[in-house]
Amino acid sequence: AARQDGPGRYRFHTWEMERAIRERVSMESFLRHALERQELALQYQPRVSMASNEIVGVEALVRWRHPALGLVAPGRFIPIAEETGLIEEIDMWVLNEACACAARWQAQGLPPVRVSVNLSARLFQQDGLARRVRAVLDEAGLPPYRLELEITESTVMHDIRAAQMVLHSLKQLGVAVSIDDFGTGYSSLSYLKRFPIDVLKIDRSFVTDVMADPNDAAIVRALIALAHGLDLEAVAEGVETIDQLTFLKANGCDEIQGYYYSPPLWPEQLALMLTKKEHSSLH
Ligand code: C2E
Ligand code: MG
Ligand code: MG
Ligand code: MG
Repeated sequence: AARQDGPGRYRFHTWEMERAIRERVSMESFLRHALERQELALQYQPRVSMASNEIVGVEALVRWRHPALGLVAPGRFIPIAEETGLIEEIDMWVLNEACACAARWQAQGLPPVRVSVNLSARLFQQDGLARRVRAVLDEAGLPPYRLELEITESTVMHDIRAAQMVLHSLKQLGVAVSIDDFGTGYSSLSYLKRFPIDVLKIDRSFVTDVMADPNDAAIVRALIALAHGLDLEAVAEGVETIDQLTFLKANGCDEIQGYYYSPPLWPEQLALMLTKKEHSSLH
């Protein structure tokens, strides 16, 4: 379509592409050094139980303090890291950092929480994942049940037999596993029941319009029922309003995560929040 708009339009397109490629190449080379320069940092977003109104978990979310661009969200660099293979190193760094942080909170006597870490497909497919996770837990001094690994549907559906084996080894280790962004990918329900997983995280895209769109409301209800039918916990992502919260609670959702309760926080802010017992914003 760009060609048909005439030569000027086409050149504009090329210029835009060039700029995009330049940014990519520069991001890529900066990203290679981000780890050694200690430019990566973690924020933690609380996950709240509907039954107790308490923070029961936190999700570690990686940020990049880029020297020129400032704080860069993972959406801008995780895809590049995945293509270049840097993601494995980044995910291992996140795992180490999150476990060390959780162990610190535990040592400080803060209320117990489970820390969730997002795992890329590439790391999930690496040999000896459970062994590596165990080494990280040992090093941090964190009990396995305090760690949850978040993987996506495509990660487990990529190679079902291999995924089953990895999931069993993680189960044996004693860490929890959740399926992230659930409902957005392709997963065969008949396989889902055979995976030893613990949590379904209902994707934000269904939660956003749950009050306005009857289809989304039906989907969310069905996903909660599916989770419970498979003996899994249902967690809703991206909860921003009291109406969404009320809907989710009325439909038996176990936990919620989202801006309504809290955005992702720096470790000190999260620790402060954990020390405050009253979570009065929830009803
Ligand atoms: P995710 O795992 O589904 O994480 C939830 C995302 O939703 C986070 O975005 C979080 O900030 C955002 N969010 C939470 N509550 C709300 C809400 O109420 N409204 C809206 N609009 N957004 C909300 P973030 O931090 O930008 O992360 C984006 C994605 O990047 C994550 O999605 C995850 O897939 C990936 N990611 C983050 N950290 C890591 C990591 O350490 N390793 C890997 N492999 N991926 C990561
Ligand atoms: Mg996640
Ligand atoms: Mg998610
Ligand atoms: Mg999501």
